[in-house]
Amino acid sequence: MKSIVYHGPEQIELIEHEIPIPGPGEIVVQNKVALTCGTDVKIYKRGYIWDPPFAFGHEASGVVSEIGEGVEKFAVGDRVFAHNTAPCNSCYYCKSGLHSLCENLTFNMGAFAEYQKIPREIVVQNTYLLPDAMSHETAALTEPFSCAVYGTDLLPIEMGSKVCVNGCGPLGLMFIRLCTLRGAEVIACDMTEERLEKARKMGAKHVIHVSEVEDQVDSVRALTPDGRGVDIAIEAVGLPSVWDLSIQMVRKGGFVLCFGGTKKGSTVTLDTTKLHYEQLTVKGIFHTTPRHVMQAFEMLKMGVLSGEDFIDHSYGIAETEEALIEHSKGHVIKNCIRFDQ
Ligand SMILES: [Zn+2]
Ligand SMILES: [Zn+2]
Repeated sequence: MKSIVYHGPEQIELIEHEIPIPGPGEIVVQNKVALTCGTDVKIYKRGYIWDPPFAFGHEASGVVSEIGEGVEKFAVGDRVFAHNTAPCNSCYYCKSGLHSLCENLTFNMGAFAEYQKIPREIVVQNTYLLPDAMSHETAALTEPFSCAVYGTDLLPIEMGSKVCVNGCGPLGLMFIRLCTLRGAEVIACDMTEERLEKARKMGAKHVIHVSEVEDQVDSVRALTPDGRGVDIAIEAVGLPSVWDLSIQMVRKGGFVLCFGGTKKGSTVTLDTTKLHYEQLTVKGIFHTTPRHVMQAFEMLKMGVLSGEDFIDHSYGIAETEEALIEHSKGHVIKNCIRFDQ
């Protein structure tokens, strides 16, 4: 089998090796598709929290090719989605209901591979059987979508709320769709026309091309009643400067969701007077939980989003680097690696 290994910034390698054998409780999935994600692009460009080398990619869907001893939930031939993590359910954070902060999160990287072994914890908690009508492309969106579902669940959103989504990459678009479904009026900000077009399709009522306006914060405020600012701002870019803008554009008592992960060691300066006298809430968020993976999968079954909305181009596994470089240019939402190519 072939798979992609990450060796460091702008260093990835296609290798050949044996197909993994599942241990007790594990399954092996023959991937049909894997998607590129903003996180993969960031890792490709600037490295990650883990030391390389490691198996690369984390959004995939495929067919079960072998099951380990004791697996009853799945059989060979099942079309499945397996999430990339599972919490331990026994640490302080899991017991407190904060599963995304689990101290012993099981990770399963290596989606850019023809076959992938799925750890027992993920098989038990975070693997789903696809209904016939669901494509592998749509199923592979479950991972990023579950992060947006978790984020949206934390928003104090009400019907008629004014929400600004900063950044219209895949996650920003998912936030736009979810906030619209919850009855909000969404303003979308981005710097490429293609992404703003998709933002409209996902339900954004207003779009702002940030490089075409003099002052992004003023432009956002101008779209709110009495120019008071949005109720909620979501940062879905991962740049400290956009974290800052997001804090500037909310109304008094407003809520800022800092979703986009920034480069290690980044800081932002907070106007403490504003934070205090305007009673702002600035909330960080990381990853997702099994509850939100379940909810995301249910919503994908309902058809609230589909792979077609998010995937621009297809590549073979040998062209993974090209798919990532193309993604990094900011004109596509996601690229797809197809293993039958
Ligand atoms: Zn992802
Ligand atoms: Zn835990």
